[in-house]
Amino acid sequence: MAIIYAIANQKGGVGKTTTAVNLAACMATQKRKVLLIDLDPQANATAGVGLYLQENEPTIYDALSNFSLTKTLIKPTSVYNLFAIASSMVLAGAEVELVEEEQREYRLQNIIREVQSEFDVIIVDCPPALGLLTINALTAATAVIVPLQCEYFALEGISHLVRTVAAVRTALNPNLDIAAIILTMYDGRANLTRMVEEDVRKHFGDRVLKTVVPRNVRLSEAPSHGKPIIKYDASATGAKAYIQLAKELVARMNKEYK
Ligand code: ADP
Ligand code: MG
Repeated sequence: MAIIYAIANQKGGVGKTTTAVNLAACMATQKRKVLLIDLDPQANATAGVGLYLQENEPTIYDALSNFSLTKTLIKPTSVYNLFAIASSMVLAGAEVELVEEEQREYRLQNIIREVQSEFDVIIVDCPPALGLLTINALTAATAVIVPLQCEYFALEGISHLVRTVAAVRTALNPNLDIAAIILTMYDGRANLTRMVEEDVRKHFGDRVLKTVVPRNVRLSEAPSHGKPIIKYDASATGAKAYIQLAKELVARMNKEYK
């Protein structure tokens, strides 16, 4: 059964999509069969793995509204063992439309159940909000991964997310927890980065992964080529960081979810 990670942080631009795409790709190259689900109407993860949809082609939106998954939604990517379900702008409507619907928080969980046995890892890229889409991801997830930028108020910034995870655990998904915090766009030369890092590590202990993701321009270029970093420039520092992060996570996964 696949382990399901929701990549969440209500703040935009902290590296959620970059982390979702590149962790998914690196885990796939480390012999895991991976499904990446784009749950953000901005569809950056969709573009990031090079999926280009025809007009009117179904997306995760259709699966959520129909309460079922057609296997044709699952697309192969340029990375062996990495598959993806695309999103599109239409998904923005789901946030509103689902509110009136039955089982609105369980839509994604139901869809995922249909394919959970076919993958080792499922990674869900969340939108930058704690609305119904993110709640769906948290309800479906085994655990949450939080990308965090080392800036002022970083801890305050995720306190809302921490409370939301606790609320979802109580009401919808009893085993949910934050499995990992990943420090992104890390600049080891900046005093502020190191101060914030110290705070975050003190507060969250070994949930903060040892590996950090440096600021690396290659990581920001890769999506415009529709490629994860390991396909775009495997020698970039950003590629090495995500390869290492995937190893760290897989090692944890093997320990915690045996
Ligand atoms: P989110 O999904 O949280 O909104 P993204 O992953 O889209 O964040 O990242 C925001 C922007 O920062 C994107 O343009 C992305 O390419 C860039 N970016 C993300 N991580 C890095 C990094 N480690 N180094 C340089 N640029 C990065
Ligand atoms: Mg994003």
